[in-house]
Amino acid sequence: MLTRREFIRTAALFALAPGILAEREREIWVNDVHSQLNRTRVRELLVPRTRDELAEIVRSASQKGLPISLSGCRHSMGGQQFGTDSICIDTRSLDRVISFDQQRGLIEAEPGIQWPKLIRTYLAAQQEAQSNGVSRKNKPAPTHSRSAGVSRPTCTDAD
Ligand SMILES: Cc1cc2nc3c(=O)[nH]c(=O)nc-3n(C[C@H](O)[C@H](O)[C@H](O)COP(=O)(O)OP(=O)(O)OC[C@H]3O[C@@H](n4cnc5c(N)ncnc54)[C@H](O)[C@@H]3O)c2cc1C
Repeated sequence: MLTRREFIRTAALFALAPGILAEREREIWVNDVHSQLNRTRVRELLVPRTRDELAEIVRSASQKGLPISLSGCRHSMGGQQFGTDSICIDTRSLDRVISFDQQRGLIEAEPGIQWPKLIRTYLAAQQEAQSNGVSRKNKPAPTHSRSAGVSRPTCTDAD
């Protein structure tokens, strides 16, 4: 559930969006990291930190009939991450590992997780398992619910 503070933060950000749009100097522009050829104006750039915040943003956008676009590390060069005048959701703060099934070698993670954190978490879990006398030799099979695909080879935590 959203805490009161989280709810107010998200709701306030979202409610302010039309006002922000009205001021030209406050327009929000986003672009991809590599080519910088996809400069796009978005209506709002929101960074949910929990699944509840994300759900609230989606619900609010739906109620207002506003389009949504999703971005991760912005490494794709075709501008797929951005929709003109959309509510752009930066998913990178949704980066928690939810579960790690050691028996099946499956990691479930939030959709904004990046490879470095995923690998670090896996290695830490593997080391812990080994120190408990359990050893796995097969490779991890990370699962993401994100549609960007599971490959983010060029992303770092600093992106
Ligand atoms: C120079 C270069 C080299 C590359 N090399 C490789 C390579 O070697 N191997 C490889 O596999 N790929 C490679 N790619 C492709 C790129 O790494 C993939 O497109 C990468 O997965 C994009 O991830 P991102 O987080 O930057 O997504 P973004 O560029 O931010 O978004 C890409 C798409 O995914 C959607 N999306 C993003 N985040 C989410 C989310 N959390 N939930 C749902 N949808 C989301 C966006 O809406 C968009 O449609 C390369 C790209 C470039 C530009």
